Amino acid sequence: MKLFNDGKPFHGSAAVSGGKLTGTTDTDYFYFFCPKCADTQMLQILNYIMTKDGPVEKYKEQRPKARRDFLIAFELWCPTCELHDFVKLSNTGWVGGKLKDTIGLPNA
Ligand SMILES: [Zn+2]
Repeated sequence: MKLFNDGKPFHGSAAVSGGKLTGTTDTDYFYFFCPKCADTQMLQILNYIMTKDGPVEKYKEQRPKARRDFLIAFELWCPTCELHDFVKLSNTGWVGGKLKDTIGLPNA
């Protein structure tokens, strides 16, 4: 089986950090928009890896209804500008509050 990102480290770049990566749903499918291209150019998700999937261990008091702790990393690619990047989805990062109060999101 081929390793995620060929076994190399992966981390989202500045292009997708700080609120620059956005997206939307059509039905219940979520799509990421390229942060470099105009007009909601959609990114392709080339691959994913679940780097954490286990029992609830973090922030139990703040999220008593959570059923698991997980972290999924996605490998993203733009067929138009060839942006190649990564983003993570987790339920153990910010567990509540308002986006404007988070660190590093000047445009929120
Ligand atoms: Zn692009």
